[in-house]
Amino acid sequence: MQRRILTADVVYNGLGTARAAGAVVLQGEGEAAQIIAVDSLERIRQRFPEAPITRVGFALSPPPVNAHTHLDLSRLPYFRGDYLSFIRHVIKSQQQRGLEAARDGLAELRRHGVRVVGDIVAREEVMTLLLSEPALSGVAYWEVIGPDPAEAERIFNETVAKVRAFRRLERPGGVRVGLSPHTPHTVSAPLLQKLTQFAHTDGLPLQIHVAETPFEAALHRTGMGPLAEFMRTFGASWQPSGLSPVGYLASLGVLEARPTLVHMVHVDEEDVRAVQRAGCAVIHCPRSNEALECGRFPWERYAKHGVDVALGTDSLGSAPDLSLEAELSAAAALHGSKASPLALVRAAVKGGYRALGLPPPRINRGDSASGLYIWRG
Ligand SMILES: [Zn+2]
Repeated sequence: MQRRILTADVVYNGLGTARAAGAVVLQGEGEAAQIIAVDSLERIRQRFPEAPITRVGFALSPPPVNAHTHLDLSRLPYFRGDYLSFIRHVIKSQQQRGLEAARDGLAELRRHGVRVVGDIVAREEVMTLLLSEPALSGVAYWEVIGPDPAEAERIFNETVAKVRAFRRLERPGGVRVGLSPHTPHTVSAPLLQKLTQFAHTDGLPLQIHVAETPFEAALHRTGMGPLAEFMRTFGASWQPSGLSPVGYLASLGVLEARPTLVHMVHVDEEDVRAVQRAGCAVIHCPRSNEALECGRFPWERYAKHGVDVALGTDSLGSAPDLSLEAELSAAAALHGSKASPLALVRAAVKGGYRALGLPPPRINRGDSASGLYIWRG
C-alpha cells in the first residue's frame, strides 16, 4: 500500500498544543486516502523510511473556524478609515444587506475551505438560508439592537418569538441559532439582562461586540468622547456606569451566560481576569481592527490568563476577504514574537470551536485525509 508523508512548520491534531516540525502519514490515493500516523517529522521518518516526503506549507490541522463574520454584509464595499465613519458607511448601505449578499458570503467562505462559522444575522431570510444550508455548521446569532430602555419589553418579546421560530428549523449537524446583543452601548441594560436570562434558560449561545474602538471605554467610564457624541446624534440617551465595557457587562450579570466576546481590544488586566473567571471565549479580528483604526488586540494578556481566543474575519465591509489563512498571517505580523505560530493555529481551530460552543475536532489514525486542512502560508 502506497504511503506518503506530509510535513509542515506546524502540525496540530486538535489535542493539547500544536507541534512544530510535525508530519502526517497518508496511505492510499485520492478519496480513499487515510491518515495512519501523526507525529514529529523525525519519528515519522524513522518509522516510514521508504515513504516520500512533501512539504505542504505552513500548517496541517483540522479545518479552522471563522468565528465572527456578517455574511449578510458581503456586498458592503470594503472600507478603511475610522470606526465611526465605518458605522455611518454600514447605516448608509442597509439596502445592500440581505439574502443575495449572504449567498455571496457563503460562496466566499467555501472558496477558503471554511465550513464552520459564527455569523451575525440581521435578516430573517438570511437566518432561514443558513439554517437550511447543507455542509455548513456553527452558530447563526440573531442580532438585537435596542438602546432605548422604554423599548426593552417590546423588543424582547419580538426577539423571543423570532428566535423560537428559527430554532424549529435547526437540523442535527447543521447551524444552531444563537443570540447577539449588538454591543453593550446599543442594547439597553434591561434588554441586555432579559436577553441574557433568555439565553441562559433556552441554552442559546451568545456573541457580543465589546471594546472594539478606543472610544467605547470613554463612553462607559465618563459618557464623553466621539462615540458618546455620535450616539447623541441618534437621540440615544446614555448614562455612563463609570466601569469598563467588560466591567459593565459583569455588573449586569451578562458574563454569567458565558457570552463569546468579539474584538476585546481595549481591555485591562482586571477585564481579562473577569472574562477568564466567567469562562468566556474571545474572538480576535486583526484585519478589521487595523482597517477601522481600532488598535492592537492584547494577545499576550489573554495568553497569560489562559483565555480561549478564536479568529474571525468580521464582514467583507472591513476585511478584504473571508480567508482564515490571511487572518492568521495578519495576526502573526501584528503580534510578532508575542504570538507563536503554534498558538495561532490552535486559536483558529480549537479556539473557534470553543467560541461557538461546539466540540473541537481531532485528527485521528484511520480518519479520511479529506479532513485535513492545509495552510499553505
Ligand atoms: Zn462584527
